[in-house]
Amino acid sequence: MSGEVLRIGVDIGGTKTRLGLVTPGGEVIAEKTIPTASGVTCAEHVTRISSSTRQLLADSGKELSDVRTIGVGVPGTADPNTGVVEYCPNLGWDREPLADHLESHLDIRPHVLQDSRAAAWAERLFGVEPSVESFLAVTVGTGIGCGIVLNNELLMGAMNTAGELGHSTLYRNGRQCSCGNRGCVEQYVSGTAILRRALEAFPDDFGGRPILTQTVFALAAEGHPPAQRLLEEALDDLAHAVVNAVNILSVEAVILSGGLCVYEELFVSPLRTRVLDLAYEPWRRQHKMDVFASRLGPSAPMIGAAFLDTALHQQRPIASRHHPASLKGHHAAPPRPAR
Ligand code: ADP
Ligand code: MG
Ligand code: ZN
Repeated sequence: MSGEVLRIGVDIGGTKTRLGLVTPGGEVIAEKTIPTASGVTCAEHVTRISSSTRQLLADSGKELSDVRTIGVGVPGTADPNTGVVEYCPNLGWDREPLADHLESHLDIRPHVLQDSRAAAWAERLFGVEPSVESFLAVTVGTGIGCGIVLNNELLMGAMNTAGELGHSTLYRNGRQCSCGNRGCVEQYVSGTAILRRALEAFPDDFGGRPILTQTVFALAAEGHPPAQRLLEEALDDLAHAVVNAVNILSVEAVILSGGLCVYEELFVSPLRTRVLDLAYEPWRRQHKMDVFASRLGPSAPMIGAAFLDTALHQQRPIASRHHPASLKGHHAAPPRPAR
């Protein structure tokens, strides 16, 4: 032991993975970012996370015995009871025993949950005002995630898929999504989608600058009309998706994190305007619902991951995936048609 009891939060994203040493007060005292290599398997990536965790601790003069808990946020569906990553379409991970892998390296059983739910939990603990009891934490990065807090509880849903805003349908027969469906929100508004749309609309206007979403935002800030138009369309797409979610759940705030939440003028503020323009009259009249960037910024999922033990403690366990014998086969999903 060398001092304060620490927590480790790991935020696995489609583009990068962040690891942080977090104090009991939610302060990140050291962190490390590693790429999430395209096509990496869960087992390989966990090996990298483990060695980076050891490195992070060594660099900070800490030891594993200083660590109270490890939590991992993943960009997809994860079962917190088993620590199995059920489905991460952006990584191509399907039914991967992530907690088992990590435990075999570090000898600590980690808590595992969807990244956007980790972000929502961080908001509950350290972000939004305590008076805001029901909100959405929307992460905009490689994909679009949405953690839901209703009456101070994280919503999992009967199928553990609550908050799949990114895979809700925005356009019938729209763009092909990695999840197998078409027209999903994240094919239009995520960081990767914005870059893809820019490369389709004005491939010659990058002017030798890096082919990154950052450059699209820089062009828009410089007054490049096609980049400005593209951001307007993307924001309009996201606003419609967010308004639909608010209409269903009647939350009083939408908090943005993920890589794009850093653009107040170009992203957060115009999104707020559009959402409020599209509001359903009874909630517009209350002047209550607001859209804003997380105070915790892009660190929200990592901080929340460090406190997953406290999130899961207050949670009823998710019902077993196995049906009683009498129902076996009755609800079997038909095979997915080839697309
Ligand atoms: P992850 O999805 O890996 O959790 P991010 O939330 O940072 O990570 O999202 C990554 C994607 O978001 C990148 O592929 C990029 O398209 C975009 N992105 C992240 N940060 C920025 C930024 N500051 N400016 C523009 N785009 C960004
Ligand atoms: Mg992320
Ligand atoms: Zn999808």
